Amino acid sequence: MQNNPDTTLVTQTAPITAETHGGRAKCLQRLVRLDLPVPATVALSFDAVHNIASGQLPDIAAILSEFPANALVCVRPSSQDPDWGGPGAVLNIGMNHDRHRELCETLGTQAASKIFLRFVQGYAVHVARLDPDMFDAIDGEGIEALDATLSAYEQETEEPFPEDIGTQLAGVLKSMARAWEGTSARLLRMAKGAPADAGLGLVVQQMALGVGRGECGSGVLQLVNSETGLEQITGRYLRQSQGRDALSPQAESIFITCDPRGASFEELLPECFAQLKSHAALMRARLREEMHVEFTIDNGRLHILDGVRVTRSSRATVRIAVQLARDGIITREEALMRVEPRALNELLHRQIATDAPRDVLGHGIAASPGAATGRLVFSATEAQASAARSEPCILVRRETSPEDIRGMHAAKGVLTERGGITSHAAVIGRGIGLPCVVGISDMRFQIENKTIQASDGRTLREGDVVTIDGTSGQVLMGAPDMHEAALDDAFQELMDWANEASDIGIRANADTPADAQTARNFNAQGIGLCRTEHMFFEPGRLTVMREMIFADSSKDRRASLERLLPMQRDDFTQLFRIMQGQPVCIRLFDPPLHEFLPTSRSGQRELAEALDLPLSTVMRRVDSLMEYNPMLGMRGVRLGVTVPEIYEMQARAIFEATIDASVDGDPVVPEIMIPLVSAKREVELVRGRVDAIATAVRNERGAEFDYRLGVMVETPRAALRAAEIAPYCSFMSFGTNDLTQMTYGLSRDDAGRFMSTYVKQGVFPEDPFHTLDVDGVGELIAIGAGRGRSVSPDLVLSICGEHGGNPESIAFVRQAGFDYVSCSPFRVPVARLAAAQLAI
Ligand code: PEP
Ligand code: MG
Repeated sequence: MQNNPDTTLVTQTAPITAETHGGRAKCLQRLVRLDLPVPATVALSFDAVHNIASGQLPDIAAILSEFPANALVCVRPSSQDPDWGGPGAVLNIGMNHDRHRELCETLGTQAASKIFLRFVQGYAVHVARLDPDMFDAIDGEGIEALDATLSAYEQETEEPFPEDIGTQLAGVLKSMARAWEGTSARLLRMAKGAPADAGLGLVVQQMALGVGRGECGSGVLQLVNSETGLEQITGRYLRQSQGRDALSPQAESIFITCDPRGASFEELLPECFAQLKSHAALMRARLREEMHVEFTIDNGRLHILDGVRVTRSSRATVRIAVQLARDGIITREEALMRVEPRALNELLHRQIATDAPRDVLGHGIAASPGAATGRLVFSATEAQASAARSEPCILVRRETSPEDIRGMHAAKGVLTERGGITSHAAVIGRGIGLPCVVGISDMRFQIENKTIQASDGRTLREGDVVTIDGTSGQVLMGAPDMHEAALDDAFQELMDWANEASDIGIRANADTPADAQTARNFNAQGIGLCRTEHMFFEPGRLTVMREMIFADSSKDRRASLERLLPMQRDDFTQLFRIMQGQPVCIRLFDPPLHEFLPTSRSGQRELAEALDLPLSTVMRRVDSLMEYNPMLGMRGVRLGVTVPEIYEMQARAIFEATIDASVDGDPVVPEIMIPLVSAKREVELVRGRVDAIATAVRNERGAEFDYRLGVMVETPRAALRAAEIAPYCSFMSFGTNDLTQMTYGLSRDDAGRFMSTYVKQGVFPEDPFHTLDVDGVGELIAIGAGRGRSVSPDLVLSICGEHGGNPESIAFVRQAGFDYVSCSPFRVPVARLAAAQLAI
């Protein structure tokens, strides 16, 4: 045996690794090294198992010589990563009529027959590949049932049941090796991330029977709760049982610690319980992981059969990693590496309980994570009315526009027929932490009739209770059970460690004081993008904004803007105060003006009344502002150049707020960002005007302040011409939403309609609005960053599109030497953890 490296007795010294023999074999060796009572075990390497599958058996007699004569053995799979699965275990190999007779003497007929019966059934199904249903008619576990099973076996296979242990073991090894190499098993494990040629090891272990005279049974134990990760000894034990029988839902198993139905395991077997607890604690300390221990009690003696990582929710993953680091068992860096950044989403938002049944009505794009339940409403006004009655609602729209923002604030979740990951509803939803599903592909919306037709033909009406899952994109009937968000001390501590470890800044995109507060709560290192236009949708302001749009002359426009100025100044003062001296990057007005005008006839009538104008004038004006392609039209810096009063008012508001907030707080150095530039002259013009306003405010107020001016790189031309734009800027922030839209020539608002077909057919590997296209858009980013820094080495570089919060994009821009990323406040923790992992 020792000469054959493929089949190794698991001893303290044998060389066993997860890469050669699989995770289970490796773990068992570690348990042996800890002197735990593990039954004798032989590990077969990946190579050995591969050879078995090709018909080349190892020396079976040599394997069996490692076990006492007449011992029964079991075979279990040992894949490199336990999550990749493997063929089912076969127990009680070695049972035959002779052994049965002996065991009848020592254990009693009932126990001996039960063991033999189990083996025959396991062998029949796994090795002889008989249909498991054929044993359904056989009742009980006694000698009659055994005889019936054996004769059913012989009838079906036309062969006697093999009596020789060598033949039995060879059969089991062959069938398990071949099962692993089968096509369906390969596809299944590849779906779980295994490489196509992943190997399987097998573990042959002496049976601790768990059935017989005295106290016998089997069970599992762990030291933490799988859902919360909190310390709690849990487990199950089933008397006269083997394997994982105790976990079968039908089993009348005994709960470990506090069985509500009677004596618990620790009362029944106090010594074994104490030993188990100390073995589990030793495993935790030495294997540096929370372990789920499988054990057997054989005539009152404890055997440890296996240990696997405790299965855990995302919340428990964080708690366990942090607790192991707190206890000095792992380092903080290791704790950070053990949590998948995206898993934090499940802690940050309410989620549908993992085991809750899901009555799915349809699917869309998961645009803002978290789940929400409420009654369907079809307009923003109804959403507000519903909130006023304290009735949770889900706002349904074909797509949302700025007019819906108040309704979105009032709703628990938003569902839109159209749109993609960067559509209005999605961006606002993520910004305010509101669950959102957009771009529904398989439901029919009739907003006017206030109905939705589900994919299976069911009709939903106003008032029906539905749940949207913004994490999976599902729309569900009714109100499934939920898990609440879990921002506990373990989460906070992990975030602190991530902060210390990361070497790229994480800022938040925040438009309102509430967003800024969320950003601070998540310890964002400033605001990387404040989309100022969102400030104009508040009820009192929208009308003034509309007045400004309707102004006929620069003078009238200035008059309306004068009224908006104090409101903007207040907004900025609040933001500066909340951010307490941290950088705040304010983007000047970006969207096309017509987004502020009502589209419906009734809205236009209301506006005509408010402005005291004839309806026809309002309609004409709305019409005249319409553009064929507004996202490529009069927006961003183009407005700044042609209607300069808006930017001038904003610059003044920013500077006045800077002075106000610096009086009683930390000094503020505002950052002013110009959107959608494509030519250096645009920046030169706007810069000249902003500088002039700064000088005017300094003189008027007799106060000094600094500020920084920069641009958003959102057009391919801005990236290509970065070297001539950079001298006018202190920073460049890549707006990858628009940059993706313009690089692909793909509308960010309409792409949702065909995106899933494109991804399914492999045209795009993923939705480029969701996952940064590093090949195309990424090349433009690299060009822009390189050319900008070539003339201004101190140019601050950042990314503030929706990609800013994605671990893959963070890796890309960090590599390109960026200073920070900026993302929705609720994604700050995910981004921070991803950044920390990259730096470790
Ligand atoms: C962008 O285009 O990436 C961006 C951040 O701006 P917005 O999404 O507001 O167009
Ligand atoms: Mg943009």
